[in-house]
Amino acid sequence: MKEDLMELLCCPLCKGELKLQVGKKSKEEIITGTLTCKECSATYPIEDAIPNLLPPDEREPAKG
Ligand SMILES: [Zn+2]
Repeated sequence: MKEDLMELLCCPLCKGELKLQVGKKSKEEIITGTLTCKECSATYPIEDAIPNLLPPDEREPAKG
């Protein structure tokens, strides 16, 4: 994801502001990292340059 995208992203749970922690970065894009909500402390991973903003409940495959 481009770092500019941060301005558009917010926490899907509480609409709070997200804090970016960069793991791996290319010239223009963040490849891996973590987004942490400043309001509710939920964390969202960035993998393969794609931020995964699914709420934690919905991230794991549903079982029974
Ligand atoms: Zn939040």
